[in-house]
Amino acid sequence: MRPIQMVDLVGQYQKIKAEVDQAVLGVIQSAAFINGPEVKSFEQELAAYLGVKHAIGCANGTDALQIAMMALDLKPGDEVITPSFTFVATVEVIGLLGLTPVFADVLPGTFNIDPADIERKITPRTKAIVPVHLFGQAADMAAVMAIAEKHGLYVIEDNCQAIGSDYTFPDGSVKKAGTIGHIGTTSFFPSKNLGCYGDGGAMFTNDEALAKKLRRVCNHGSDVRYYHEVVGVNSRLDSMQAAVLRIKLRHLDSYARARNAAADFYDAAFQGISGLTVPARSANSTHVFHQYTLRVADGPGSGSGRRDALKKHLEDRGIPCMVYYPVPCHLQAAYKSPRFAEGSLPVTEQLTREVLSLPMSTELDHEQLTHITEGVKSFFN
Ligand SMILES: *Cc1c(COP(=O)(O)O)cnc(C)c1O
Repeated sequence: MRPIQMVDLVGQYQKIKAEVDQAVLGVIQSAAFINGPEVKSFEQELAAYLGVKHAIGCANGTDALQIAMMALDLKPGDEVITPSFTFVATVEVIGLLGLTPVFADVLPGTFNIDPADIERKITPRTKAIVPVHLFGQAADMAAVMAIAEKHGLYVIEDNCQAIGSDYTFPDGSVKKAGTIGHIGTTSFFPSKNLGCYGDGGAMFTNDEALAKKLRRVCNHGSDVRYYHEVVGVNSRLDSMQAAVLRIKLRHLDSYARARNAAADFYDAAFQGISGLTVPARSANSTHVFHQYTLRVADGPGSGSGRRDALKKHLEDRGIPCMVYYPVPCHLQAAYKSPRFAEGSLPVTEQLTREVLSLPMSTELDHEQLTHITEGVKSFFN
C-alpha cells in the first residue's frame, strides 16, 4: 500500500506534470513574473467558471479577507459577525483592522454558521457578516442574505474551503459558493481544493465599483501608478502560481468528484456505528469535501477523550488524521473577550471536542480507503 497522507499533492502533480512543467517554464522564459498575461487569463477563466463578473487575484486567502474589509470601508469599532468555529484567519483580519469580531454559533450538522444566532448577535454597530463555507459546503446563504438585507449589512463569504460547490436557493436558482454575497474570498494554499504551488488567493464580486476598489486596495491604494487614493496593501497573485492554477482549474470538477467518491466510501463503511457521526450533507449545497470530518461522541461529561483515543488508534496504524479545530477562536488567547466566555457558544465548543478529519485528497485509492475505514471500525469493535 502507498503510505497514506492527509493530502497527496505529489500524486496529484504526477498526473498533470507535463502540462504544469511546461506552463511554469513558459513563465520563466517570458520573465512576466508580476501581473503577467497568465494572471489576467486565470482571473478571466476563474470568473467564467464561477459565473461571477470579477475575480481578482491576491497573495493569499487571509489578504483576500482583509482587502475585502478595507474595500467595504469598515472602520474601527464596527462589528463583524462570524463563526468562532473556523480557521483563525477569518477573525485575525477583523482584529487587525480594529474591527470587533462578534461570534455566532454554528449548526451541529453542517458545522456552518447558524442564521438564528446571527440575528441574536446584531447590534447597532454591526456592519458585516462573514459566513465561512466550512469543510466544503456552503452556509445557509438564503438566510444569511435575507438577514443582511433586512439590517443593511455587507456579506463577505469566506470561501477558502468550498470553491466549486453549488448553492441552491429556495426558488431553485443555483449559484457558486463565493458569488452570493457582496464579496467572496478564497485561498489557493497548496492543500486547498484549488491549490497552487505556493501562496495565492482571490476575491470575487459582481459589483463593478467594488471590483475597482478591491483592485485599488491590493495595489497600494492606487489606480494610476504613483498616485495613491487610499491606504492600501501590496498583495499580488504571481504569474507562476496563476499558470499552475489555470491548469488545475480545468480539473477542479473532476477533483471534486474524486473527493466525493472517497467521502461516499467512508459514509458507507461507517453506517450504523454508534457514537460515530458522519458529516451531514446540506440540503441546499453540494459538498466538495475539503475535509471529511467525523464527530466522535464522548460519554457523559462530553470531553474529547474518545475522539483523542481514536486519533491515537489511527496514528498507530499509519493513518494520519487531524483535529480542525481544537480551540475555537473565541477561546484563543489572542481573541478572548468577556462577551464570549467559555460556554457562550455551546455547539462550537462541543464540536472542538468531537471532530476528527480523515485523510482526504484526489488521490486516495481503494486499498488506502479500506485500510482507513478498517482502522476506524476496529476502534469501535
Ligand atoms: C485557508 C483559510 C484561510 C486563509 O488562507 P491563506 O491563503 O492560508 O491565507 C482563511 N479562511 C479559511 C476558512 C481557510 O480555510
